[in-house]
Amino acid sequence: MKHSNVRKGHMLLSILKEKCPDCGKGAVFKKDDNLLEMPVMHEKCVHCQYVFDREPGYFLGAMYLSYAIAVLACGLVFLLLHYGFPDLPLIYTPVLMGVTIVLIAKKNYKLSRIIYIHLFPW
Ligand SMILES: [Zn+2]
Repeated sequence: MKHSNVRKGHMLLSILKEKCPDCGKGAVFKKDDNLLEMPVMHEKCVHCQYVFDREPGYFLGAMYLSYAIAVLACGLVFLLLHYGFPDLPLIYTPVLMGVTIVLIAKKNYKLSRIIYIHLFPW
């Protein structure tokens, strides 16, 4: 396993800034202005030429992270509604969870892939 050049303390910052897991400087995703389009990754880091997508199916594991992030967000929505709005009818809980999943879908997609390439670098 290749060791990342990004120091451990900077890994979280690199993940949050959506930067390369190897150098921490190049952007992983291309700039997108359209809110409704899915994010597109660069094939390589523009700074250090680190290849992000090494093989077909490499990001399959990122789906599990995406699921975990969605479950976490739904848990937070549930706690907020349960303790913040106890008189709210029960039907609002799954509806607002669904709305939350849709609203965070784009960020969830990016975050899950970036966390995955940081956890399992080549
Ligand atoms: Zn890089």
